[in-house]
Amino acid sequence: EYKDMSKERMMEIRRQNCNPMTMKVTYYKKPVYIHQGHMQWLWDVDGRRYLDLFAGVATVSVGHCHPKVTSAAEKQLRKLWHTTNIYVYSPLHEYTEKLAATLPDPLKVIYLTNSGSEANDLAMLMARLHTGNFDVITLRGSYHGGSPHTMGLTSNAAYKYPVASGLGCHNTMCPDVFAGPWGGSNCRDSPIQTIRDCSCPQGSCTANDKYIGQLNEVFATSVPSRIAAFFAEPIMGVGGAVQYPKNFLKDTYKLVRERGGVCIADEVQTGFGRTGSHFWGFQGHDVIPDMVTMAKGIANGFPMGAVVTTPEVAASFAKGVHFNTFGGNPVACAIASSVLDTMEEDGTQQISHNVGTYLLTELAKMRDKYEIIGDVRGKGLQIGVEMVKDKASRKPLPPAAMSEIFEDTKDMGVLIGKGGVYGQVREYMDR
Ligand code: PMP
Repeated sequence: EYKDMSKERMMEIRRQNCNPMTMKVTYYKKPVYIHQGHMQWLWDVDGRRYLDLFAGVATVSVGHCHPKVTSAAEKQLRKLWHTTNIYVYSPLHEYTEKLAATLPDPLKVIYLTNSGSEANDLAMLMARLHTGNFDVITLRGSYHGGSPHTMGLTSNAAYKYPVASGLGCHNTMCPDVFAGPWGGSNCRDSPIQTIRDCSCPQGSCTANDKYIGQLNEVFATSVPSRIAAFFAEPIMGVGGAVQYPKNFLKDTYKLVRERGGVCIADEVQTGFGRTGSHFWGFQGHDVIPDMVTMAKGIANGFPMGAVVTTPEVAASFAKGVHFNTFGGNPVACAIASSVLDTMEEDGTQQISHNVGTYLLTELAKMRDKYEIIGDVRGKGLQIGVEMVKDKASRKPLPPAAMSEIFEDTKDMGVLIGKGGVYGQVREYMDR
């Protein structure tokens, strides 16, 4: 019978032998010492049960330790772990065929990696080689990874180091209709929408025009006439569940393609049915990217990532040799394959839609009642609640108050996460 170490011993080891950041990056004054997970539940070492609304920051897509996925992992572990692209083995082919079937044409060529940062790194490299251009644009406030290259895509100071990470990387204003300068009450009338056009007639969203204007300013001031790529999440995750005005991604994709760039959807958080109405977040924006990057929920928490692209982009990349020792290993592929089967059998996309819509509706009622709940937004189970000082200023709720809410929510047995560039994130990094 496995026995956990004592809490004191774990903390002692953490202080001496672990990345010092791990002492800071805990949401809670009293940390959660986790012992076990099953579906939506987590238990701590004292046997306390928590409802996990954070799902390991979107890694858990079919439930903690889902019995079917666990059994697929066990079976593969007994058969073959060996990993190299030199030999041909079935799990990789079973998986890539299944994954490709979830994506529209021409997104059919798959590169398997071990994390989201690695997938975005690869996508950036492929975009540069394919287009022959160098400059890349992302949205301010976004998170796309922590590797030296992807740190350049990431636009959130809390996750950046003062090194030359951002060569050729630029960002444009995030079209945040709640906290940004344009949008306002019209854009908040209808919280249950991926694309917030709310009450404006089709094609006449003035907020969208302003944010697209900002993108044009970046083109005019910061990048040469041709660019390599534009990266964005369909709904921003770490940046604070930000939804864009209707047509923002569609208009942006058009402008980026006019400048020779490819469009990349980072589906690390929004993919695999999380947004409820669609399997992929980009499908809610009526666009088809040239590349899609994914990780987290792809294998229900087992380390894995992927880039999916078109045969055309893949052909440009095939001019060199790309090798990844662990990317596409049989164990990860067997797990990811079983995750896709489980999603279909359990109807997880529909569950995201049903539970998410209910949650959004109930949270919107709380928003109407409480002064410190400024905005409720999202789609499916990609949901954000923006906590504010007061509704008039829309300024972030101060860190100390945020901290209390987190501690209380945890003590009531519910685990939630934090995002956003201001206040919340700063508080979480500073402790
Ligand atoms: N993209 C997005 C949207 C993410 O949220 C994250 C992780 N938070 C990453 C990329 C990087 O993934 P990883 O931590 O697996 O490298």
